[in-house]
Amino acid sequence: MKYYSTNKSVPPVALMEAVTKGLANDNGLFMPERILKFHPSFFDRIHQMSFQEIAFEVAKRFFGEDVPENTLKELVYDTLSFDCPVVKVNDSVYSLELFHGPTLAFKDVGGRFMARLLGYFLQGFKKEVNVLVATSGDTGSAVANGFYDVPGIKVYVLYPKGLVSDIQEKQFTTLGKNITALEIDGTFDDCQRLVKSAFLDQELNEALVLTSANSINVARFLPQSFYYFNAYARLREAGVSGDIVFSVPSGNFGNLTAGLFAKFMGLPVKRFVAANNENDIVYKYLQSGNYEPRPSVATIANAMDVGAPSNFARILELYNHSHQNIAADMVGYRYSDQEIRETMKEVYTETNYMLDPHGAVGYRALKADLKLGEVGVFLETAHPAKFTETVESVLGAGTVVLPEKLRAFMKGEKLSIPLSTEFADFKQFLLNK
Ligand SMILES: *Cc1c(COP(=O)(O)O)cnc(C)c1O
Repeated sequence: MKYYSTNKSVPPVALMEAVTKGLANDNGLFMPERILKFHPSFFDRIHQMSFQEIAFEVAKRFFGEDVPENTLKELVYDTLSFDCPVVKVNDSVYSLELFHGPTLAFKDVGGRFMARLLGYFLQGFKKEVNVLVATSGDTGSAVANGFYDVPGIKVYVLYPKGLVSDIQEKQFTTLGKNITALEIDGTFDDCQRLVKSAFLDQELNEALVLTSANSINVARFLPQSFYYFNAYARLREAGVSGDIVFSVPSGNFGNLTAGLFAKFMGLPVKRFVAANNENDIVYKYLQSGNYEPRPSVATIANAMDVGAPSNFARILELYNHSHQNIAADMVGYRYSDQEIRETMKEVYTETNYMLDPHGAVGYRALKADLKLGEVGVFLETAHPAKFTETVESVLGAGTVVLPEKLRAFMKGEKLSIPLSTEFADFKQFLLNK
């Protein structure tokens, strides 16, 4: 399968090149040339399949032409060594819990899958590969943990100083070995800009092999479509019928775009709800048809604090740049920090279900949009313990129990290198390392 650039000014490339480069040479995002559909009968028996079995079928449609079946199966099964349950919250609203992976974030799937796929492609490759990843919190930990100790690959995590939670910071600053954390004196958008500039810098690219593990990388974001297929299967398995609406707490829109791919592959989804915090660029686009990126603002759902969602270009491409077509499949909502807090409190009081701030945005948007007879699924994108401070400030001290996986990270010592937002400094650092 070839991958073309959303900017269309360079020729399509093979999967290996798309994964090792991350971003196309014309600064566009890679898109698969074709989306292979499932036969409708697949969905009549999907409820009998496990998460791994389903994911393998999906992965074959994306990567089956480029990776031998046995290898692909091993990569998928290794990546999905944990569960992805659908939990009923109330009435016809379900939480798709994506936080059962090693760092308790949904990005664990893409992080691990990409690490393993890159490892496969780089077998026998003589030069060291440098993975650059900008994070607003969870990407850094998922990617760092996915790539930890993978031979021949060095990872640089760029994160905004003081804008990620303590637990998130611990998850990518304490690993050491092939993982280096860079503490940038700026915002997430600055981190993302530094990474993008690095890929466009000729001198840097002549000296080093660089790739990105942000959701701009096809190996990171496409595997997230596994989740949607699994949600459908688990609901049908539980005997739940009715049209399914997915609500996705969104920042860079990688997760939601993966859902759109699932739909294009034939997964029966009635529509998607794009749930924003105050960084409501896509919400505004859905209302007006005008896409106007602007600097991000800090919120309590910080993994969604994105002012220029990188996957928006993919959404436009999927729908032939038609606002009308996009708005037919997707509705938008946006909530303030105050509304997020209210929702966490209300849901906990009424149902005992503990939402993290991101899941709360998804839940509230779903509640606002769900019609009678529909089944609503919101993606609970992080474990509440990853945002203990915020959750306890709303629900009361002592409500959050730290899972063992997180406790282990908290014991580690923070190792990070402070850097300015100047590209020249970042470049110098990479060249001198
Ligand atoms: C990354 C992340 C999001 C946003 O996902 P996108 O794919 O960037 O839209 C939402 N919630 C949490 C907890 C995240 O880590």
